[in-house]
Amino acid sequence: MTAERKQTALVVEDNEDNMVLITMLLENAGYEHIWADTGLKGVELVLEQEPDFVLLDIQLPDIEGTEVLKRIRALEDAEVAKIPIIAMTSYAMAGDREKLLAAGCDGYIEKPINPMRVISQIRAILGDKT
Ligand code: MN
Repeated sequence: MTAERKQTALVVEDNEDNMVLITMLLENAGYEHIWADTGLKGVELVLEQEPDFVLLDIQLPDIEGTEVLKRIRALEDAEVAKIPIIAMTSYAMAGDREKLLAAGCDGYIEKPINPMRVISQIRAILGDKT
């Protein structure tokens, strides 16, 4: 029997309260996590750390989450480029969802996140992708 390696989530989120909540929930569910508070740092950490999946806020202080998504999908390393990415979008941005899916996002979670549901939402989107 082999011990199952903990999966690592990269959380790209500029709001510290949201980040604290999400990472606490991830930790309780047995995930490791790393955090980027800007889009550029997010792309950089994908390359450096090769996390198992990304939780991506759309409204970021530097480049938009949609741009982060495009840059990750365009990375030269094909394995890294296809990392599962879950967008976190507010209800007001419902119009952006099709754009996100078209840009290669694997799914989205509505903000504000529901602490009771978010882990099962993540698992449902990831399926057997990680
Ligand atoms: Mn934000």
